[in-house]
Amino acid sequence: MSAISFNSLCVHDPEDPRSTRPHQLPIYATSSFDFESIDQGIDIFSGKAQGHVYGRYGNPTIDAVAGKIAQLETHGLDIEASAILCSSGMAAIAVLMTSLLRSGDKILTQGNLYGGTTELFTKTLAQLGIQTVMTDLQKLEQVEALVRADESIRMLYFETPANPTLACVDIEALAAIARRHGRHSAIDNTFCTPYLQQPLALGADFAIHSTTKYLNGHGNSIAGAIVGRDAALMRDKVAKTMKLLGANCNAWDAWLTNLGMKTLTLRMDRHCANALALAQFLQQQPAVAKVNYPGLESHPDHALARRQMRNFGGMLSFELTAGYDAAIACMNQLTFCSLAPTLGDVDTLILHPASSSHLNIPKELRLQNGITDGLVRVSVGIEDLSDLIADFQKGLAAAIAK
Ligand SMILES: *Cc1c(COP(=O)(O)O)cnc(C)c1O
Repeated sequence: MSAISFNSLCVHDPEDPRSTRPHQLPIYATSSFDFESIDQGIDIFSGKAQGHVYGRYGNPTIDAVAGKIAQLETHGLDIEASAILCSSGMAAIAVLMTSLLRSGDKILTQGNLYGGTTELFTKTLAQLGIQTVMTDLQKLEQVEALVRADESIRMLYFETPANPTLACVDIEALAAIARRHGRHSAIDNTFCTPYLQQPLALGADFAIHSTTKYLNGHGNSIAGAIVGRDAALMRDKVAKTMKLLGANCNAWDAWLTNLGMKTLTLRMDRHCANALALAQFLQQQPAVAKVNYPGLESHPDHALARRQMRNFGGMLSFELTAGYDAAIACMNQLTFCSLAPTLGDVDTLILHPASSSHLNIPKELRLQNGITDGLVRVSVGIEDLSDLIADFQKGLAAAIAK
């Protein structure tokens, strides 16, 4: 017989239903956690005991998934990294930068970052007095000279391979420059996932992910991760900033990320195999002037990619000889691939940067980064290759007719 009233019973949460351990990660949809006693509360608040307090600070579902990503990023390495999950990839980048940098500090980075990151740096962080210096990160001596000459550069931030030409930079060399001069290095590892590339193994301090892309892989959650090699710095600065900005992930999106990660290696192997085969097919087509895929020997950064990546990933881009109209005609013919402004999903996604993601960027600037009028970006899915090739054959026929 219940000791409390019917209504109170309705209002209260049921007793913890756990008897034996759940085989699958449960979703903890709770904003706070009870203390068993005042003393336990004091111990947890003072950091003497481990425990959850309030959902914005952490939650068993979210922490389990963050811990798994940290383990993946350091798998096989002798590093005790820690990770946090944020509400998006952008939140992860913003949290890391605002936790480590202050007014007067500078970020040294490349001109072809993910568009959102460029805007975050040059608009939002600029308002806070944090400046961004863009340079060609392939020119290592020039990078080191910039770092040596300017004490206010506190962070080297980069992406490799980068959108949309899949240009690569040397993680080990850049991380070493940062280390030699006592600066931080952080890399956006979204395109590769830790299965294909482990920046911490190459000396980087932080790896960032938009888990929205390949780690989730199914296009049904938005989240971001920060993995850092210095657990104390992660706890005292980075996680603290996330809590105070309220940029935490939620249990449902964390759970979906975990579900997606179960098949990460199966998906990535197939993404890579399909992308290489599609790149090789496109390379032979008369309508195509150029294919950008780091797995092709013709790619300028093929040797570097081979050195620092386990395989070459699922992203490629190609340039149609006949330019803008040909790209539009080709894309309008594709029915199997979807036109969508994301990447890393199980199905194939295409994008025409000149008319979408880079529409508002001045043409000269866009051309500098290889984003020509006829460039088409493909996030190659895990479907059967024959269906993909058939679709692109249709598209290229329309491009030729232009
Ligand atoms: C999508 C993306 C981001 C931003 O991630 P969100 O989860 O959309 O906030 C950052 N970097 C790269 C390389 C991306 O592809």
